[in-house]
Amino acid sequence: MQFMLGDITVDVIQKDIKNLHLSVHPPAGKVRISTPMRMDLDTIRVFTISKLAWIKSQQKKLREQERETPREYLERESHYVWGKRYLLKLVEKDAAPNVELKHNKLVLQLRPAANQAKRQEVLDAWYREQLKEVVPHLIAKWEKIIGVKTGKFFVQKMKTKWGSCSPVKKNIRINTDLAKKPLQCLEYIVAHELTHLRERSHNEHFTALMDAHMPQWRQYREMLNKLPLTYQQWDY
Ligand SMILES: [Zn+2]
Repeated sequence: MQFMLGDITVDVIQKDIKNLHLSVHPPAGKVRISTPMRMDLDTIRVFTISKLAWIKSQQKKLREQERETPREYLERESHYVWGKRYLLKLVEKDAAPNVELKHNKLVLQLRPAANQAKRQEVLDAWYREQLKEVVPHLIAKWEKIIGVKTGKFFVQKMKTKWGSCSPVKKNIRINTDLAKKPLQCLEYIVAHELTHLRERSHNEHFTALMDAHMPQWRQYREMLNKLPLTYQQWDY
């Protein structure tokens, strides 16, 4: 079911719930309202109109976030490593590319004529390396805590997920962008994916396992969703 409020389309989803729940979703700012089963459309419409200012501010926030996202790999641009902000410093040198952290600078050394795509490629490879160093230790730690055994792990660019796991092969995939977040966020994702080897779906059993093994996981999830360059759309 749908209705329009000016130029805003509102999707109505009826559910077995007691209260109305309004949400604005990235990337385009789609509006969704979950309602109890037998609520009439007028009530829903009046409620939504009362929240119009909030809806518009959420949509504005999403539009701004979207503009913020693409990095151009320019001098003094902000880049994050393990949750800490660094300023990009570009160095031209006719040698193999190199990345180094020096105080608050992320020094990206490239051959002259390296274009933006090359800068991105070198930096992404470096982020992947950072993860490949840390993830095996975290997997070993959480295999013991949760009592599971994993297969291989991969670090890769993912558009809508922080991590994933294949229940049959027990392979774990980690999003390259996690190297930009505080280390606890990566640890949370590792614990989350390994927990899926005991429980496939996000049900009560899954939550109980997470609560038992990592009581502060909600805090880490919030951190992950709040930090720059992230959207609410992430699922994991
Ligand atoms: Zn999950």
